[in-house]
Amino acid sequence: MPGAGSGPGGGSASGSGGGSGGGPATGPGAGTGGAAVGGGWAARWQAVLDELGASAAREVARGGALARRGAVDQLTIATGEVAGVVAEDRLDPRAVTITWPPPDDAAWARATVALADQLRFTAALLEGDLPDDADEVLAAAGVPLLPAAAVLTPKCDGEECEGWCRHAVAAHVAVATRIDREPALLLRLRGRSGDELLSALRTEPADAEHPSGALRFPGAFDVANGDLDAIALHPMPVDDPASLFRHLGEPPGVSDDRALAGIIERAAAGAWRLAAGDGAEAADEELLLAELRAQRVATAAALAGALGRDEHAVQVQLDELYEQGTVLRTGSGERARYRAAAS
Ligand SMILES: [Zn+2]
Repeated sequence: MPGAGSGPGGGSASGSGGGSGGGPATGPGAGTGGAAVGGGWAARWQAVLDELGASAAREVARGGALARRGAVDQLTIATGEVAGVVAEDRLDPRAVTITWPPPDDAAWARATVALADQLRFTAALLEGDLPDDADEVLAAAGVPLLPAAAVLTPKCDGEECEGWCRHAVAAHVAVATRIDREPALLLRLRGRSGDELLSALRTEPADAEHPSGALRFPGAFDVANGDLDAIALHPMPVDDPASLFRHLGEPPGVSDDRALAGIIERAAAGAWRLAAGDGAEAADEELLLAELRAQRVATAAALAGALGRDEHAVQVQLDELYEQGTVLRTGSGERARYRAAAS
């Protein structure tokens, strides 16, 4: 087979050359047993086969071909074990298992805390999806979702079979196909179903600075019986309105999320002003500080302009805040510039 370049990862010229006649169907990609399967999780799952080296290249190529032609049947993915039946021909099916000991409960507890820290993971799980970087977060907590070859133990009941035989490879590749459609199966393999993980995430206490506590009124909805006005709200100012925003993770398509955080802080201050009613003066002060933080350095005139407030009133409030040490001042008179003191 002249010119059939070796696969990108494999580089295993010796193995695939031996095939007579029909030979391997796919030249490129032979190193991964035919990496035709999807991207993301599936490709990374299958990459394990690249680690097996040149001596396994022939079985890897044959196993990949078996998987592609649908030779894998009764595939199951359960805690710590993949199982399937691989029938090279109808008369001679082989039972295959690939085991990977699951992490212990302590590791899962750490992993759950790490996932709970970013709501986007929960959001993705609710959609039956798994963000590509979930493996990084989980692996750091002791629950890797993608194996190294060394941690997997393939077993096949074929008499001549040992280690990564073509049947085991076929089962492994078939798993990649399943994962491609349903990444949460990786969680299942590691010992938690997507649903189990979701319910664990729901009960995971939010961290201390999580602002949603201000909106917690257990039982109020039941008691109100549909009448929302019957629910008494007791709003509280939030120390760090942008914490939920950070909690959600990096927003897509935003290069400077500090600017966005500034907008959120101003909006929160405005909302608090509305909610505070009689306490409007304190709310005005909050709003002024939020605007000042957003502008970093500003004159009274600039702040008054941005807030649509009377410049003199803003000046008076700035003077008070300066006395309290809440804001810093450089210059004097109309040209005085202010910035918020570090809290
Ligand atoms: Zn086998």
